[in-house]
Amino acid sequence: MYKISKRIEISAAHSLKTTYESLCNNLHGHNWMITIHCKSETLNENGMVEDFSAIKSLLTRKLDHKNLNEVLPFNPTAENIAKWICDQIPTCYKVEVQESENNIASYEK
Ligand SMILES: [Zn+2]
Repeated sequence: MYKISKRIEISAAHSLKTTYESLCNNLHGHNWMITIHCKSETLNENGMVEDFSAIKSLLTRKLDHKNLNEVLPFNPTAENIAKWICDQIPTCYKVEVQESENNIASYEK
């Protein structure tokens, strides 16, 4: 099994919908550190699992310097963002989304 990991940083804003009062209900921003893990039994015709720069451009085009509430069709919690990213890349099996030093969510297939 071949495995790769790609780390990218994205600056983006969000506000969360919660059933309780939270500071996170207000629009605010993070410098998100996102780690994308991909794996494949075989390499593609270029000898890769995925092109690192293609992963970066896919995610920065969609998310970087955006209001995530406007570009994602769900409540943009770190957990939901991790699952959404995993679903965008066929070989992806795990995504970690770090919104601050101490707050990390991950999704694994
Ligand atoms: Zn936040």
